[in-house]
Amino acid sequence: MGTCSYCGVKETMPFKCKFCGEQFCGEHRLPENHECYGLQRFKEERSKMPEKWIYEPFHSKEKAEVGRKVEKPLNKKIYENIRGIDSRKILYAILAIIIVLTVSQVLI
Ligand SMILES: [Zn+2]
Ligand SMILES: [Zn+2]
Repeated sequence: MGTCSYCGVKETMPFKCKFCGEQFCGEHRLPENHECYGLQRFKEERSKMPEKWIYEPFHSKEKAEVGRKVEKPLNKKIYENIRGIDSRKILYAILAIIIVLTVSQVLI
């Protein structure tokens, strides 16, 4: 027993969306029919690395989905973190230079 996350209809056998993980009725089970934010994210990821994100039909097995969900976004997150730290360090360096310049001008 479940409830459709889109229209609220009670379903004895709800469909689980493989993109956002929510439950839907037969009418709204397809990502296109429930304005799926998971599908939107999937498409964005896919456009970044099309060779690794092969589009699969909706009835594909849960196992493949879990492996993908855990692996790829985690790697991406690490890369983003590294990038984030680097750009922040550069920003701090620039700020420090500006402060030093300003202070030295005031002193002169
Ligand atoms: Zn529904
Ligand atoms: Zn969905």
